[in-house]
Amino acid sequence: MLHPDKKILSRDGLGLSEIISRQQQFFRNGKSLAPSFRKDQLSRLLKSVQRHEPAILDAVKQDLGKPELEAYFAEVGMVYGEIKYHMKNLEKWSRRKRVMTPVTVKPAQSYIYHQPKGQVLIIGPWNYPIQLMLIPMIGAIAAGNTIVLKPSEMTPSSSELLAKIIEETFTSDYVALFEGGAEVSQELLVSPWDHVFFTGSTNVGRLVAIAAAKTLSPVTLELGGKSPCIVTARANLKVAAKRLVSGKFFNVGQTCVAPDYLLVESSVKDDFLKILESELLRAYGSDPQKSSDLGRIVNEQHFKRLSDLLQSGKTFVGGQVDAKERYIAPTILTDVTWDDAVMAGEIFGPILPVITFNSLEKVVDDLQGRDRPLALYIFTEDSKESDSCLNNLIYGGGCVNDTVIQLANHNLPFGGTGTSGYGAYHGKKSFETFSHEKSILKNTTKIDLPVRYPPYTSWKSKVMRFLLS
Ligand code: NAD
Repeated sequence: MLHPDKKILSRDGLGLSEIISRQQQFFRNGKSLAPSFRKDQLSRLLKSVQRHEPAILDAVKQDLGKPELEAYFAEVGMVYGEIKYHMKNLEKWSRRKRVMTPVTVKPAQSYIYHQPKGQVLIIGPWNYPIQLMLIPMIGAIAAGNTIVLKPSEMTPSSSELLAKIIEETFTSDYVALFEGGAEVSQELLVSPWDHVFFTGSTNVGRLVAIAAAKTLSPVTLELGGKSPCIVTARANLKVAAKRLVSGKFFNVGQTCVAPDYLLVESSVKDDFLKILESELLRAYGSDPQKSSDLGRIVNEQHFKRLSDLLQSGKTFVGGQVDAKERYIAPTILTDVTWDDAVMAGEIFGPILPVITFNSLEKVVDDLQGRDRPLALYIFTEDSKESDSCLNNLIYGGGCVNDTVIQLANHNLPFGGTGTSGYGAYHGKKSFETFSHEKSILKNTTKIDLPVRYPPYTSWKSKVMRFLLS
């Protein structure tokens, strides 16, 4: 049943219920079923993003002060790669797959059909405001769905530009976009969806899951959390420092998979901190505020929240703030404990608290008792140490001897577990997320063994037991 709405309007002036019923009609007409149609739509999207590339780089500069290279890599480069990969493979992925059939149901044959789920809702956050709407959408298009998008209201330039791109590229009976904040999401979530794909905070993710449960809409939750970075005494400290700095301060720490805090083995702590300090100097200069390679905090509320976190522990490096520019210097805090405010929740900013350890075993034991993070990074040259994390800790994904770049490989499904979310996407996994796997057993009427039919005589029972034992 559709929820009657009067309040929210898409850019072409249609209300939600009108969009939903047009999209249902579009889907029922089978327009999105042919792989050639899907490829065509992806190609249109690719051309549109290419055409708007300078505007995209400009919009994320306005919203987040994103340096051009970061913006190119994360907002458009990854999108190009994902579109091309789906265009190349979607036909193959869409084909029915024959699977083995057990002797008990022979001579039937068994198949899995990949069908689009139907009508998909995608709700996104502000930190990668273009990519985190378009990459799920690419999977939804490749799988043959109709789509409604709701970008974040916190990055208005990106939201407006995305609305323009969508309007220029697709008709709203196929892909529509509603701008606005929580109230718009809430209204969208009153309707049943064939899939809801949500990227955002754990708290809001919980509310989205509750709302979707009311209509039994399946959900993917791409959430956040505190992702540890472990550096042991067996690490290559120089490379570790470079890769930790690049993963932590990319987009000024406003990255869901950024290393949230550092766990460093005490015997190398002082050396590692010195190397980190010089790496920060090399990357951003003596006054990082003047660096063109450092973005800004998204809004005053987050600036205030992060500024308050600077009270935790001791400032080893950084700590400078400028409210006018919403600037916070890349900061390293030492002497931090788990009782400090900076360790209470996801930091999502350029602040790196440091905690030392003496035993990796104890670290693993401690992390087992905490929320399951979206990512975990370990730097060590000793595979026994990395294996102890890989084998004993459950988390979304991560790297050994690197940070964040697991996202750059579309062959690696991306998603969380526990409080960091459920479900996954990227590459083929996106296609699967937005597809329904329909299992079909095709039988013949030429052979009809009586063993399965009542009355269940003793010989039938013997045959059945023989076949199934
Ligand atoms: P958020 O949860 O505040 O907002 C996300 C979206 O939900 C926005 O579009 C917002 O308008 C909407 N929303 C807000 N309140 C809502 C409500 N009550 N009901 C329904 N919808 C509501 O998240 P954010 O601040 O935009 O993004 C930051 C968070 O997202 C961080 O926790 C980060 O780790 C996480 N994140 C996760 C991933 C991932 O892929 N796992 C990627 C980026 C960001």
